[in-house]
Amino acid sequence: MITMALEKPPLTRKQKIAALADQCVQCGLCLPTCPTYGLDGNEAESPRGRIAIAAALARGDAEPTAALRIHLDHCLGCLNCQRVCPANVKYDELLVETRALIGPSPERPKQLLAALKQPTLLRLAARLAGASGVARWKNRLTHRLPAGSPWRAALQTWPEEATDETVPSISPRSDADSITVAIFPGCVASVEDEAAERSAIALLRAAGYRVERLPAFCCGAMDLHGGDMEAADRLAERVRDNWQRSGASQLVTVTPGCLGTLRRALPEVAVVDPVSLLAARLDQLTFRPLARRVALHLPCTQLNVARSESALQKLLSKIPSLDVAVVPRPPHCCGAAGSHMLEFPERAARLRDGVLGQIATLAPQQLLSSNIGCRLHLAAGMDEHGAHWPHMHPLTLLAQQLEMSP
Ligand code: SF4
Ligand code: SF4
Repeated sequence: MITMALEKPPLTRKQKIAALADQCVQCGLCLPTCPTYGLDGNEAESPRGRIAIAAALARGDAEPTAALRIHLDHCLGCLNCQRVCPANVKYDELLVETRALIGPSPERPKQLLAALKQPTLLRLAARLAGASGVARWKNRLTHRLPAGSPWRAALQTWPEEATDETVPSISPRSDADSITVAIFPGCVASVEDEAAERSAIALLRAAGYRVERLPAFCCGAMDLHGGDMEAADRLAERVRDNWQRSGASQLVTVTPGCLGTLRRALPEVAVVDPVSLLAARLDQLTFRPLARRVALHLPCTQLNVARSESALQKLLSKIPSLDVAVVPRPPHCCGAAGSHMLEFPERAARLRDGVLGQIATLAPQQLLSSNIGCRLHLAAGMDEHGAHWPHMHPLTLLAQQLEMSP
């Protein structure tokens, strides 16, 4: 007798979206955590509303008209909804698949986003801006660009002054039994948050890890969130090639915003926030005291993807005299959200105002946040509101306070 394996054919994208949407029991528990629902009070701008839109598109009950797709485009991908959902709806997958189904928005600033994905170009632009005194011309040029333009929003986030980001250099350890960790530098972060990457390397080495640096390139998050699945898949292939050459056993990135995309590219690999590895070896690290009050902003991706907030707070508590005040939530998201701050600057500024107001109540001397996008977006808002808290990645502060062994 011939037995035939009864294998089910893989689901089509539309079937997958419909199946994911079917998990939602429409309880509405996610609504109070959704920043866009908080902005508009509109069901279509809520997770439950977006799930209903996705299901209608997948089942052919609706067409992706501009009026309908704008509610999906407005989604920040913050995943606050997924974190509280009692039915474990995989909102992240549902959003990515639905955006891939309808494709990138015609309004998407393709050239600007393509430029931001190129570290070499960004580095050159940063050098030219620094050499020509960016503070002298930035405001004049910004105000000549149309309000709401993505280029104007990008220029507003361009940093004017360098903060003190000197970090110690630590020699690699040669113990045969050290764990090798690969660090993924990313695109914008590899230029605008280079100090955080150097800090992560110094701290990981001090904690006894060997560190391999991968080349700097985009992980594909911007394409994935924008619905360009082909471009995202090409970058995922590049991530896999470089990972295989590294010989490492774990992958880290200082930007929590890249974590989800890296995990999608490497589902079998432990892709983590370096603070989790450092917190696990706290006994190897000693820090010098620092009498300073800092506001700690926890990006949505650090809370909902990396889940490393308690590890970070544990590490910072090891700096004697440091007074850490965590920025309270809600309003949940500062509005940066990858390219959201460029595509929807007015909405992003409204979300940012809530977070800046909360930071102000803490009266900090400095602002810490792990996501370079959040930091640049918040800093642009500070300029407008006349507040000037110096800001840095928490790893940079930790590396600056690291007690070096004699
Ligand atoms: S990901 Fe964030 S913005 Fe999008 S629906 Fe969920 S809570 Fe709302
Ligand atoms: S909490 Fe989960 S099940 Fe409830 S409405 Fe939101 S997504 Fe649906």
